[in-house]
Amino acid sequence: MKHRLHCFAFLTLAVLLFASSCKKETFDGPLPKVHIIATGGTIAGTSTDIGYEAGKVSIETILQAVPELTRYAELDYEQFCNIGSQDMSESIWLPLAKRVNQVLESGKYDAVLITHGTDTMEETAFFLNLTIHNPKPVILVGSIRPSDAADADGPASLLKAVQTIVKPNAVGKEVMCCLGSKVYEAGAAFKNDTHSLDPLSETSVDWYLPHNADTGFFIDNLEELPEVGIAYGYGSNSTVALEAFVNAGYKGIVFAGVGDGNLSQAALDFAAQAAKNGVMIVRSSRVPYGGVYTEGGEVDDEKLGFIASGSLSPQKSRILLMLVLSATRDIDVIRSYFRQGVFDHA
Ligand code: GLU
Repeated sequence: MKHRLHCFAFLTLAVLLFASSCKKETFDGPLPKVHIIATGGTIAGTSTDIGYEAGKVSIETILQAVPELTRYAELDYEQFCNIGSQDMSESIWLPLAKRVNQVLESGKYDAVLITHGTDTMEETAFFLNLTIHNPKPVILVGSIRPSDAADADGPASLLKAVQTIVKPNAVGKEVMCCLGSKVYEAGAAFKNDTHSLDPLSETSVDWYLPHNADTGFFIDNLEELPEVGIAYGYGSNSTVALEAFVNAGYKGIVFAGVGDGNLSQAALDFAAQAAKNGVMIVRSSRVPYGGVYTEGGEVDDEKLGFIASGSLSPQKSRILLMLVLSATRDIDVIRSYFRQGVFDHA
């Protein structure tokens, strides 16, 4: 009997110790308030015969699978759209950025969490980073496996994302992207693996931009952005893609060049003429590391009227060019945005 009592006392102590160690991560005071904006992605996907379909399940259903979230934050949510992020566009980015600004400025919330597909997560994060003017944390979270998979990874990513944004040190950072146990910042994040459960990685960027920085990009009165396309480079590439963008009236073209942002002679000549005619041409690279700079390369950007992308990828260069073109067409000013980031322009 005595032995049983000892066992009972020991078990009680163990349970209490375990409970108190779990509690360390939760809060004694009122829980932080997190507003969730759902946009779709595989985290809201369901399985099909050939694989899965993104953007099928509501945020309400997704959250029901992770009751543990309520230990860390008081949550509310809205379904903003429900799409695969390959369909994310400026017509969603603009109202999304306005909505995030509105939520954070309402004073009712401590952070915003956005569910999103991983295909273009880095683009949305970068766009929001340039257009949100509040230091409170904003995090995008996605998954690789659909919501109904037996080994769905969305719940763990959601938990990690909430745990990340309720911490005091999450304030004043760049917009973040969360997948699995990892968190990446908007400027550096890029998807570098099509199938891995850890598909995001980071590249180096010259400039760091916490999203409370005064970027000078105010989108409240904007209903659309200037059209900017990306043409992909290859050896001896033709001018067909460049021509198509010019003929469609695009205001800017980012060329994802080979190596150090190089173009074939035909593409170079065509792009130089387009630049003379007022189309902004940004030279970027299909190579993920190293960036493209005017200094030390093969292309005379000053003479040809091009802009070097610096450390930005083609997809992020496109976003910066769209935002800059909504404010100015002065090529020197645009060049300086790419070279130095946005701080000098606020
Ligand atoms: N097409 C999906 C999307 O980006 C793929 C992957 C994902 O969600 O992770 O929405």
